[in-house]
Amino acid sequence: MQINKLLNEIEAYGAQLVAVTKTQPVNALIPLFDAGIRIFGENRVQELLIKKPQLPSDINWHMIGHLQSNKIKQVTPQVTMIQSISSIKLYDQLQQFCGHQGLNVDILFEMQIASEDTKTGWDIDNFLSWIVTFDSVPHVRIRGLMGMASFTNDQDQIKKEFSRLRQLFEQLKKEKFPENYFDTVSMGMSSDYKIALDCGSTMVRIGSLLFQK
Ligand SMILES: *Cc1c(COP(=O)(O)O)cnc(C)c1O
Repeated sequence: MQINKLLNEIEAYGAQLVAVTKTQPVNALIPLFDAGIRIFGENRVQELLIKKPQLPSDINWHMIGHLQSNKIKQVTPQVTMIQSISSIKLYDQLQQFCGHQGLNVDILFEMQIASEDTKTGWDIDNFLSWIVTFDSVPHVRIRGLMGMASFTNDQDQIKKEFSRLRQLFEQLKKEKFPENYFDTVSMGMSSDYKIALDCGSTMVRIGSLLFQK
């Protein structure tokens, strides 16, 4: 994969790239850093904790995978963003921890947009009834939404799911989070990032494509 070409393509949309580095050895990540990529995403806490100290300190690490609430303590001080906040319980424990520690973190709410029930994320209806009662707290900054489309070759299906997430983002921006920093729609992976960009993604999370020989 020509990294520069990919970066230009993403930049043309005004979007950001998260290099998903899970399962890749540290030495495979150096070329990404050298190409100027500064956001790395991991989906397992343990792997992130091992890799981070071995790489330059100006990398922003994002937690993008399913997070157990008992791992909040370990992971939060190490990341600039948690993209996978997918339940009230997780949000509550995170905001309590950050409050106690005086620690700031950015988060995305992960939404279930795929038709398969194998995918994680917040049920949109449940989320919408919770968010009415929601009040911001000082240390946890809500930056936007994250989602994963169905694993399918049906482009129209994928487009429908990404458009739904973008539409939900617009609705929340208007009704609940007018702040400038509510600016992120994280959607699109190696197989569907082009569709995601066309549907209004501001942040794509790409792994396997970056490491193709
Ligand atoms: C692995 C992963 C990605 C990247 O997937 P690729 O198909 O390798 O690009 C993106 N987001 C999440 C949450 C992931 O776990």
